[in-house]
Amino acid sequence: MSQVVLLNATYEPLGGVTFRHAIGMLVRGVAIVEEQDGVLTFGPFPRPRVIRLVRFVATTWLYKPAGFSKPGVLARDRRTCAFCGGYATTVDHLRPKSQGGANSWLNCVAACKACNGRKANRTPHGAGMKRLHCTPYVPRVIDLINAA
Ligand SMILES: [Zn+2]
Repeated sequence: MSQVVLLNATYEPLGGVTFRHAIGMLVRGVAIVEEQDGVLTFGPFPRPRVIRLVRFVATTWLYKPAGFSKPGVLARDRRTCAFCGGYATTVDHLRPKSQGGANSWLNCVAACKACNGRKANRTPHGAGMKRLHCTPYVPRVIDLINAA
């Protein structure tokens, strides 16, 4: 998926968004094309390489740790199962809830249904699962926006 550079109204770079996300922002009128990608067009829009927000957005909140949520875990891990690398639709607790594992960014990873079921109420080690495909971390708000 190609990335489009997103600038604040003040031209401060905010990171990359997916092409789809960029088009969505153009359609909603919250961003304009700042730099187009050659002569290609996408519907009524020039194909964007760089877009810029129409209104200034205070960004300090973007760089704060995101509040924990299960959809957030799936976004952070880009829907990749931590155990097999497959498509994840569930969230697994590394340390099972039944063993006191917390609902937290560091204890939760995206998992496919099969791996989640196979692991059940065990730790990855207890379930004979080797290295994780991802390292759990506390994402910033902007990380989740960029991953969406
Ligand atoms: Zn899996």
